[in-house]
Amino acid sequence: MFETDGLAALKSSTELLAQGFTDLPEFDSPHLDAGAAAVLSDVARRMQENYPYAHPLYAGQMLKPPHPIARAAYSLAMQINPNNHALDGGRASSELEKEAVANLAAMFAWDSHIGHLCGGGTMANMEALWIARQELGGAVVASEQAHYTHSRLTEVLGIPFHSVPVNANAQMDVAALESLLRQEKIGTVVVTLGTTGVGSVDPLHKVLELRKSHSFRIHVDAAYGGYHCLLDSLADNARQAFAQIADVDSIVIDPHKHGLQPYGCGCVLFRDPQIGRHYKHESPYTYFSSDELHLGEISLECSRPGASATALWATQQLQPMERGGEFARGLEDSRQAALALYARICDDHSQLSIVEPELDIVLWAPKAVKASEISALSSNAFEQCAANNLHLALVHLPSTLLRAHWTGVEFDAESVTCLRSCLMKPEHLQWVEKIWAIYKEST
Ligand SMILES: *Cc1c(COP(=O)(O)O)cnc(C)c1O
Repeated sequence: MFETDGLAALKSSTELLAQGFTDLPEFDSPHLDAGAAAVLSDVARRMQENYPYAHPLYAGQMLKPPHPIARAAYSLAMQINPNNHALDGGRASSELEKEAVANLAAMFAWDSHIGHLCGGGTMANMEALWIARQELGGAVVASEQAHYTHSRLTEVLGIPFHSVPVNANAQMDVAALESLLRQEKIGTVVVTLGTTGVGSVDPLHKVLELRKSHSFRIHVDAAYGGYHCLLDSLADNARQAFAQIADVDSIVIDPHKHGLQPYGCGCVLFRDPQIGRHYKHESPYTYFSSDELHLGEISLECSRPGASATALWATQQLQPMERGGEFARGLEDSRQAALALYARICDDHSQLSIVEPELDIVLWAPKAVKASEISALSSNAFEQCAANNLHLALVHLPSTLLRAHWTGVEFDAESVTCLRSCLMKPEHLQWVEKIWAIYKEST
């Protein structure tokens, strides 16, 4: 199940890296001894307690194994452990970060931008909302299906927050947004392109229309869905939304979600490079080894792993983010896997389908008369499948969302527990049949 062939390439590239430092006198550097090897064995045994995230039968939460090149490049960079806070800490890896981030901006068709990597989507969204407040003030709004951290981040930042209802497809209800815009001073609309729970895409194109008569900033949270802008096969709403992504003020994308990266790799991008002025600080420790604006001056976090940038850059070299390229084909396979699973659910009269997947998340539930019974059956199916090595996830959906889809159901609860499967690995396409077979045997 695990890839170890890359270790040979890692060894030879480590030797090559060392050649850059041969003019230094030898010293006795720390190395792994027998004690360390024993500890590593303990680590291996403890790690066996994880779910098998890399295997296609793990089809639960939003987890995708990093590409082997990302793992190898990350490990190689660990020989240096660069800190991309400043050029002093990560001279080479800061360059790699700027290039990798520019590649992400280019994927969104931005020819100018300012941005950087950070710990993840939460941190990236916090920076975007912080900048939004400096630029325009006013409240932040996001849909009911937006990531839960937006309302919490606005608490941290002391910004008023309002939640916008969603339609039956779990997309932001634009009429509800418009009435909020009339009533309140809204500074920023968070548009989620790929919600974490449902995988739905807010209609960005319609939100942009509202900007003709109201003034507000648009922040796109595409932590999970951002890379889907490379696909040609999206259905109408998602296609139109992604087609206009370049017209927004800021974007968050998580290379550690769909970008084949180890955790600790989020990215925030701003269209206007001038927003760099909000980051100005005068730290006596921040060292200037060049006149160029360095990454530590345009980031809220201070120390950041240069290894993340190195891994991302390496992955982009091997699998450029191009329409029709290998990387995009991997995303396409995941999406086709989701559509194939959805088709099986729709064809099975013992199951209740919900929304057609816009990206690669599928939701469904076993059929019953009452909502409370459906919740119990979903939880039971989740456990039975896990016992048979098929790992799904659960999601609690509001009954208001489900009513439109499940006309015969008696809603005796405010929310219903449903099954959720993120088919984020390209291999899932080959495994849909097997996944469905295990599901049916288990329930
Ligand atoms: C995952 C996710 C986040 C949070 O990102 P982390 O990297 O987990 O901090 C925010 N928004 C969306 C849409 C997400 O899917």
